[in-house]
Amino acid sequence: MHEPGTEFGCASCYGEDAQAVYGRQREGFAHETAVVADSHFAVSVRRCLACRQRFAWIWTEFTDWSGGDDASYVTILPLTDAEAAALTAGTLAPLDLGPLGEGRRHLHSDRPSSGPFRLHWDTGPFPVQEGH
Ligand SMILES: [Zn+2]
Repeated sequence: MHEPGTEFGCASCYGEDAQAVYGRQREGFAHETAVVADSHFAVSVRRCLACRQRFAWIWTEFTDWSGGDDASYVTILPLTDAEAAALTAGTLAPLDLGPLGEGRRHLHSDRPSSGPFRLHWDTGPFPVQEGH
């Protein structure tokens, strides 16, 4: 039995342990497409090497002009093949990914300027905005 919203991927890319999943980002995933690659906002499509599940990888950075401690956020959202194709083709805008979190678990890595670092699974729509 699966919990609602967890019917994607495998134990390696979508398991309960957020730390383990996040720690696999470098070696456990193939980087398929860079959809956006700006200096403060990057969105790519990545694929789990174990099960081929595709994910949107959304990175946002907000420059901390006063303290130099830039805030950065990563959201990792599983995609259906159709969604991944649309995101790659440009028919699904990166800024429109947030509503897909409804009823679908996604991983957040939050590193606000004032801390603390937080890594957690969440379910529900989430904001997507370009950093600066
Ligand atoms: Zn997987």
